[in-house]
Amino acid sequence: MIQLYVPLNFLGVIYREIKQGLADLDKMFVLLEREREVADQPGAQPLQVSEGRVRFEHVSFAYDGAQGPQGAAAHRPILHDVSFEIPPGRTVAVVGPSGAGKSTLARLLYRFYDVEPGAGRITIDGQDIRAVTQASLRAAIGIVPQDTVLFNDTVAYNIGYGRPDASQAEIEAAARAAHIHDFIASTPKGYDTIVGERGLKLSGGEKQRVAIARTLLKNPPVLIFDEATSALDSANERAIQGELQSAARGKTALVIAHRLSTVVDAHEIVVMEQGRVVERGPHAALLALDGVYARMWRLQHSQAPGETTPA
Ligand code: ATP
Repeated sequence: MIQLYVPLNFLGVIYREIKQGLADLDKMFVLLEREREVADQPGAQPLQVSEGRVRFEHVSFAYDGAQGPQGAAAHRPILHDVSFEIPPGRTVAVVGPSGAGKSTLARLLYRFYDVEPGAGRITIDGQDIRAVTQASLRAAIGIVPQDTVLFNDTVAYNIGYGRPDASQAEIEAAARAAHIHDFIASTPKGYDTIVGERGLKLSGGEKQRVAIARTLLKNPPVLIFDEATSALDSANERAIQGELQSAARGKTALVIAHRLSTVVDAHEIVVMEQGRVVERGPHAALLALDGVYARMWRLQHSQAPGETTPA
């Protein structure tokens, strides 16, 4: 099933691109090239997740210009000697200005790209993720991406995609937990409603809830949540945060945060600037440090009058 899932997953990416009308031939080759780039090593073993400890160890990284949209920027270093650990069942949040390399960390953990030999490593329960099969790695990780693109298919398909053998009852339970069930039930065709570009258009918050439901259904030990950059209204934002927290309960989670309100409860906050970790620690300690994070916090709060900064 897992082996079937990954090619389907990959085909899903292409399918999505075609549906979006973006899939010119160059883009297809980029996708295919990327997939080949992270091919399994000969004799790769399946990842064995025991407790779910994720470690970035001295990771440096540059996109290969041939793969990226910016060919001219070939080999520009993006990450420099990044190290941090997400203990089992904990949440680590990454914050920093746009372009600091936050989403790149998520892409490397999911192995859209591989860290070059000698440029550090990422491990899960002590296993270098380059040495395990991609299928087993991706089965162990659930991603809620920044901008969820839905398939032009039914809501049930879009949620069930997280686990192709899921029953209708399981799909509904996941939708309830992600607080999207009532909305789905209110549409004329319910779970058979076609969504996506050519079907029912969902708001950013609704799409993220579908992605959360998909991830809850998949129930992986490791979660990556790349917070939406697009502004949600604050009620929606708080609700999604709550749903995310329940999705992350007991799991190892990497949260790429664009709003600091999301990260206050994280076990540790990693502050990045220009591809380097410049500060780390829990929220209160970083405020006390009165450095980059404290400045970001003050800035966000000066933009939101009425909110108070906890000591
Ligand atoms: P944001 O908060 O805006 O999402 P970020 O901190 O997540 O930013 P990344 O998306 O990790 O930043 O990007 C880090 C740098 O890598 C940026 O300068 C970006 O232009 C560059 N970059 C991202 N993807 C690619 C790619 N596929 N090819 C080449 N360069 C890339």
